[in-house]
Amino acid sequence: MKATLQQVDEVMRERPRKLDAEQVGYEAAPEGSEFRCASCLRYYRRAVDNFATCEIFRDEETDENGVNPAYRCRFWTSDGDQHPLVEN
Ligand code: SF4
Repeated sequence: MKATLQQVDEVMRERPRKLDAEQVGYEAAPEGSEFRCASCLRYYRRAVDNFATCEIFRDEETDENGVNPAYRCRFWTSDGDQHPLVEN
């Protein structure tokens, strides 16, 4: 059965739960650091308007302006397995 526009709207309203800025430690990356959102596996940039999101984190600011590629959090990863900024 074909989906309706109403079903599409419902899907768009059902946003998955994500962590907030304080939980992940979202902050400006130090100058020159390779660990930044722009190089993270969890960073996604929408082609049509360049709006950027993160798989695991969002807040009101990033909902409005997108994830800053020059920021980062403790869960930065390039492969989904190694997390060099996580304190053990
Ligand atoms: S560094 Fe953190 S906030 Fe940035 S894209 Fe990766 S997981 Fe998301």
